Amino acid sequence: MGATDSATAVLAGQPGIAQWQEDFYRTVHQHPELGHQEVKTAAAVADALREYGFAVQEKVGSTGVIGILENGDGPVVLMRADMDALPIAEATGLPYASSEHATDRDGADVPVMHACGHDAHVACLLGAARLLAATPSAWQGTYIALFQPAEELADGAEFMIGDHLADRIPHPDVALAQHVLPFPSGRVGTRAGAFLSSGDSMRVTVWGRGSHGSMPQLSVDPVVLASTIVLRLQGIVSREVTPGEFAVLTVGRIAGGAKSNVIADHAVLELNLRTFSDATRTAMVNAIHRIVDGECAASGSPKPAEYELYDHYPVTVNDPAATAKVADAFAAYFGDAAFTIDRQSASEDFGELPDALGTPYTYWGVGSVDPGRYAKAQAAGTVATDIPANHSPYFAPVIEPTLRTGTAAAVVAALAWLGDGRS
Ligand code: ZN
Ligand code: ZN
Repeated sequence: MGATDSATAVLAGQPGIAQWQEDFYRTVHQHPELGHQEVKTAAAVADALREYGFAVQEKVGSTGVIGILENGDGPVVLMRADMDALPIAEATGLPYASSEHATDRDGADVPVMHACGHDAHVACLLGAARLLAATPSAWQGTYIALFQPAEELADGAEFMIGDHLADRIPHPDVALAQHVLPFPSGRVGTRAGAFLSSGDSMRVTVWGRGSHGSMPQLSVDPVVLASTIVLRLQGIVSREVTPGEFAVLTVGRIAGGAKSNVIADHAVLELNLRTFSDATRTAMVNAIHRIVDGECAASGSPKPAEYELYDHYPVTVNDPAATAKVADAFAAYFGDAAFTIDRQSASEDFGELPDALGTPYTYWGVGSVDPGRYAKAQAAGTVATDIPANHSPYFAPVIEPTLRTGTAAAVVAALAWLGDGRS
């Protein structure tokens, strides 16, 4: 039996699990949990994996779950799904919309929503695990289903690695992951090489001299200082980065002062950087320092600015050989619905897992938008305004064929390694 026949044999079970899988997805969607708080989701995943015959480890990192299914000698394939949701108030109006709240890591009460589709990732990986477990005669080797906490906090993978991930599992030959994205459901997109940008956040505190709002001559006004910095920073991408080289610099937050008649003594800027190259990233960080320090000097700032880098995501660089293998398997199974996808300006911490294990990886996109709706928006040139993307309060993947496609993609990719074992 070759990999394609194996996929056909394993996926013959798909119609039989569809109702369970869709119900499971709706339940997880309706009860989202923030990073490191995925307690109910993790428990449901662990229970299901045990039922399928996986050896299960729980509370890895914080709420991480690892299921291992050994099925004779052969390759070891790891697939990862992230489990966490976002502090967003859901506005989809879906019958299974979330009305959950939680306490975030800063102690604030926040609404919670699966606005990035991690609920779909969980449902698809669990579905793939169930199908593989039900058809052991169709493949050979070891399948590791890894459910990761806190992707959105940029440290879930790090937590699992720090909790001895490498000692908990057999060394994988390949690591796989997928993400639902705003393109037509039913399609899958692969890309060799750099696929997702690096992401960094930087908090900059600049100092002034506080004063009465009526006596600016006594102050160094940090709000004016911060404002000039925001404008100067716009020149980094437009004037310093090579045209055509991908770079994003966003000032996501600016805060200074508390009252109209008081000049504050400091202001805070929170920046977000995205690049595909370490050299560009370094150049941008250096430029930020130069501009901030220069503007502080120009303003007569009484002490040096403070910088804090946080929420770092590495560039996600897909291994060319592993990606080619998956792309070939997708082409054989999905036909024209498999395509080469563009680089994305989103970021991920998935790559840290295989990097820590010394394992090649590939990460692909799964469509999640109703194809008819997408075609209409595309014809009208309104995709950007009419199709809610990940992290929108309106983000609402169509359940099918999204789950069916994501589950099939997970199985087909795994069997590109595991499916040649038996004849
Ligand atoms: Zn996200
Ligand atoms: Zn995500």
